[in-house]
Amino acid sequence: AKEQRKNNYQLFTKELNEKVTRRLKLERSLRKAIKQKELKLYYQPQVDIQTGKLLGIEALLRWNPSFGFVSPNEFIPIAEETGLIVQIGEWVMNEACRKIKQWEKHELLNVPISINVSVRQFRDSNFVRKVKEIISKEKINPKFLEIEITERVMFNVEESSESIKDLREFGIMVAIDDFGVGYSSLYLIANLDYDTLKIDKSLIDDLLNNERKMAILSAIIDATNNHKRIIIEGIETKEQVEVLKNFSVIGQGYFFSHPLPAKELELKVKQIGR
Ligand code: C2E
Ligand code: CA
Ligand code: CA
Ligand code: CA
Repeated sequence: AKEQRKNNYQLFTKELNEKVTRRLKLERSLRKAIKQKELKLYYQPQVDIQTGKLLGIEALLRWNPSFGFVSPNEFIPIAEETGLIVQIGEWVMNEACRKIKQWEKHELLNVPISINVSVRQFRDSNFVRKVKEIISKEKINPKFLEIEITERVMFNVEESSESIKDLREFGIMVAIDDFGVGYSSLYLIANLDYDTLKIDKSLIDDLLNNERKMAILSAIIDATNNHKRIIIEGIETKEQVEVLKNFSVIGQGYFFSHPLPAKELELKVKQIGR
């Protein structure tokens, strides 16, 4: 038994060590990632669930360093903790606006591109000014940019609503992301001005066998759909699409398309029409 405990302990320290080492490595590499052009944006279509028409696109970060692909779920939290997210977020904003410019020019797209903004970035006192600057610099119509924020960003609702108001008055769209997973979400949609509500995947997983989820979903849609865009995230099956066709909502998920590199997205858009 003593031998076993010793083994467990060694196993534990080994795992802990590996975690710490990986974290340090990611942090170090992340600092160089922008300069070395290892970051990319992929684009996932958002479509009218009834007609399949393209209504929006979400830009998602991809990082593929020489030592192998790292998921944003792993590196975004590290970027947050180290503050690197401010720099990375600015790169995302610039890159997305360059694409908007390009697509606008070629009349390829006439839908908003949304980018994810995290807490630390949004709370940076220069954030709103920077977004406006980039838009003015690229001379794009602000209605083609949407900012996705989660309720974590808005723990100070008063402060956040100022920024949100400012962005929306400038013409930028604002989406509430991951709706349905947190605590204060209902409070937020009752008190904030926004354009788009993104309903989290967890609320539609198993939707077909879960009457309660169905009831909650239709209540949310009923309460907001007249004046807001609603996007249902993480749609994977034909069955889900069939049920959701009862509502006039926007769908996003692997069923329609995985996130794609810009070039492939352009081809996809030509296929699905607009
Ligand atoms: P999110 O904003 O909720 O983005 C949706 C995630 O769901 C994406 O994961 C997307 O690839 C994935 N997804 C889309 N359709 C489906 C589906 O049908 N099934 C399943 N299982 N997943 C689907 P991804 O790209 O790995 O990003 C994970 C998270 O990382 C994002 O969640 C977002 O919170 C964060 N993130 C990604 N890009 C950025 C960025 O540029 N800035 C910031 N701050 N965060 C980002
Ligand atoms: Ca998002
Ligand atoms: Ca989401
Ligand atoms: Ca999420």
